[in-house]
Amino acid sequence: MLSTLQPVSSLIQTAPLLSIQLLGRGLLSNVSQATVVCAKSNRVQIRIRSGGHDYEGLSYNSSMRFAVLDINNLSSITVDVSGKKAWVQAGATLGELYTKICEASKPLAFPAGVCPTLGAGGHISGGGYGNLMRKYGISVDHVVDAQLVDVNGKILNRASMGEDLFWAIRGGGGASFGVILSWTINQK
Ligand SMILES: Cc1cc2nc3c(=O)[nH]c(=O)nc-3n(C[C@H](O)[C@H](O)[C@H](O)COP(=O)(O)OP(=O)(O)OC[C@H]3O[C@@H](n4cnc5c(N)ncnc54)[C@H](O)[C@@H]3O)c2cc1C
Repeated sequence: MLSTLQPVSSLIQTAPLLSIQLLGRGLLSNVSQATVVCAKSNRVQIRIRSGGHDYEGLSYNSSMRFAVLDINNLSSITVDVSGKKAWVQAGATLGELYTKICEASKPLAFPAGVCPTLGAGGHISGGGYGNLMRKYGISVDHVVDAQLVDVNGKILNRASMGEDLFWAIRGGGGASFGVILSWTINQK
């Protein structure tokens, strides 16, 4: 884990108190949980950044005291060709996901955005439209499970978060509800 006190972008109006960059796969859930609990008890807002492509800079900007939780290094992807499923960590980019799927199987694909540097965390939680939309719909139509750290620092999956929250994070923007750690997706 890297912690710095530097501003993370020239677009920032208010610099973060802390920028927490996750570096190791195993640390993902622990540090994300600790960040949520620590930020809550110190009344510091968390800005979660996956691909950093938010149009308004909401992943690295706030008018309140805030810390950036940067998960772009956490980008593992596992493709299950026979089950037509994939597990993707929220810091992976769409380009990394498309490449992994293509390497595993040429006919399989995942409907998502056209820009390869979008992060799975922000993109999929916002819906995700792209070139395959006419035939297969949008990204969230193909999300079958997710891991999320909730406001109390608990790690939840689809079964434990319940269908209402699972519905909300598929289009409602992940940051409104917690820190998304990973998605399980169906491939077409
Ligand atoms: C050049 C460009 C091209 C684009 N093309 C498309 C396109 O083809 N199709 C399309 O549908 N959209 C497109 N978008 C929009 C893009 O999908 C959204 O801006 C998306 O939110 C970016 O996600 P990100 O992870 O890259 O960005 P970030 O800035 O990291 O995050 C965006 C938002 O999601 C939150 N967030 C990020 N990660 C997590 C997480 N792990 N858990 C909870 N909340 C999280 C952030 O806090 C922020 O509010 C494009 C945007 C840009 C700038």
